[in-house]
Amino acid sequence: MESNFDIVVIGSGPGGYVAAIRAAQLGYKTAVVEKYPVLGGTCTNVGCIPSKALLDSTEHYHNILHKGQQQGIEVEGLKLNFSTLISRKDNVVKQNTDGIAYLMKKNKIQVITGTGSFVSKDQITVTGGDGRQQTVNSQYFIIATGSKPSSLPGITLDKDRIITSTEALVLKEQPESMVIIGGGVIGVEMASVYSRIGVKVTIIEYADALIPTMDRELGPALQKILSRNGIEFVLNSRVKAAKNNGNSATVTYLDKAGNAQEITADYCLVAVGRKPYTTGLNLEKAGISTDEKGRIKTNEHLQTAAANIYAIGDVIAGPMLAHKAEEEGAYVAERINGKTPHIKYHLIPGVVYTWPEVASAGYTEEQLKEQGITYRKGKFPFIASGRARAADETDGFVKVLSDPTYGEILGVHIIGARAADLIAQAVIAMEFEVTDVEMGRISYAHPTFSEALKDAYLAASGQGAVNL
Ligand code: FAD
Ligand code: NAD
Repeated sequence: MESNFDIVVIGSGPGGYVAAIRAAQLGYKTAVVEKYPVLGGTCTNVGCIPSKALLDSTEHYHNILHKGQQQGIEVEGLKLNFSTLISRKDNVVKQNTDGIAYLMKKNKIQVITGTGSFVSKDQITVTGGDGRQQTVNSQYFIIATGSKPSSLPGITLDKDRIITSTEALVLKEQPESMVIIGGGVIGVEMASVYSRIGVKVTIIEYADALIPTMDRELGPALQKILSRNGIEFVLNSRVKAAKNNGNSATVTYLDKAGNAQEITADYCLVAVGRKPYTTGLNLEKAGISTDEKGRIKTNEHLQTAAANIYAIGDVIAGPMLAHKAEEEGAYVAERINGKTPHIKYHLIPGVVYTWPEVASAGYTEEQLKEQGITYRKGKFPFIASGRARAADETDGFVKVLSDPTYGEILGVHIIGARAADLIAQAVIAMEFEVTDVEMGRISYAHPTFSEALKDAYLAASGQGAVNL
């Protein structure tokens, strides 16, 4: 087997496989080292793809159950087959991991299975599952080893009753109840999956609102909608402990008044963030260090202290998102190639795949206030959209924040049907500095959900809404 390369990527998640493909496209002799026998990392195997498969299936079920009748769709004997739900998801994951393996072959990227550890800044060993070791030399390395679920002090993730998102995606039987610690992205997405199929779900969140890092108008709006699905919320409450009772779990938290409270459920899902993963890399052998959060330190060009070694994705600073890792993967391959790519980090969209979806790009109102930047705000509710009424999807709104002098769009925040796809046009507008007036002037097909954006741009620019 070949052991000398131009570029070796460690980790095959969205950061790693995109970096490898771009490197190969640019003509470099490239290898990917992945410790698991399947490629794709967290996103493809236990993250984005399986969670979206379950979100989509459960949304179909929920819509037939709760929205069918009022639209004249009457179904008798509707029932959910939990094991089919899970096996379809497994099949979707396989199609995606096979797709990545195909792309590696097509681009003549060598896949080396095993754990990569630095010997020096130019050499790693790769140790396979059977303990066999191989030495690999390369001119450049790209570290893309991702992240793992975090826990809280005093809580052991036993993966039995006290679980992470990874186990929540592969439960063998439908539970009756679940308590979720954390009302961030994983919390609300997994709560949606399970509440839609009749599981009693309670979210305990430390902050005073769900998805607290997004624009602060979004969390309360999302909570109101999700409450209708029967999810219960305990906000302003800090979880202190979780105990496995054998066939249930008990979570202890301090409520707003500081009193200890308990909730018992079949499972406790811990969704309080993820931590960078560098175990086994032997970073010190290459002279690379990590920060106080365990993230590999890089400069603005994603270069570590060793000039030939770069790091990307969840293992470095920035939002832990697949498309952020992908952008960084392509960026590094192009930098090595002497190109001058750029990433505008504040324009990396954040999406929450609840229904309705939540999507944001640019600055939040809170960030603009903090930075002392003046802005004007245009808002349009989906209830005023003809398309939304036709679809019976009238929840939510679009909020546009723009510069009062020049009309530059500073932030777009959407909660509503298809927000995940709608946010793309806002990113284009911000990336290419199209103004709110200009975005309000172009033609949007009628009737579409996108017209709500047009109206929000018009409202931000000081003109009134025109659509119904
Ligand atoms: P990872 O995908 O974590 O891949 C790292 C890879 O490196 C792994 O395969 C690992 O086995 C391998 N590795 C680690 N150490 C070594 C070593 N020493 N040697 C060899 N291989 C090694 N993001 C979104 O943008 N959209 C979503 O909808 C979304 N949904 C998510 C849902 C869930 C439940 C979770 C948990 C995450 C979700 N994310 C989502 C986040 C997304 O999965 C991550 O941001 C993304 O996977 C990060 O990519 P990465 O390439 O940096 O690392
Ligand atoms: P998160 O940071 O989104 O949310 C964690 C939540 O836990 C926060 O709201 C925090 O206030 C709360 N929390 C922390 N300590 C607590 C305590 N003691 N008691 C109660 N609540 C507490 O993290 P996550 O939801 O675990 O997701 C991890 C990462 O995965 C995120 O960075 C996210 O970007 C990524 N992800 C993205 C998507 C997506 O893009 N759709 C989906 C899933 C995961």
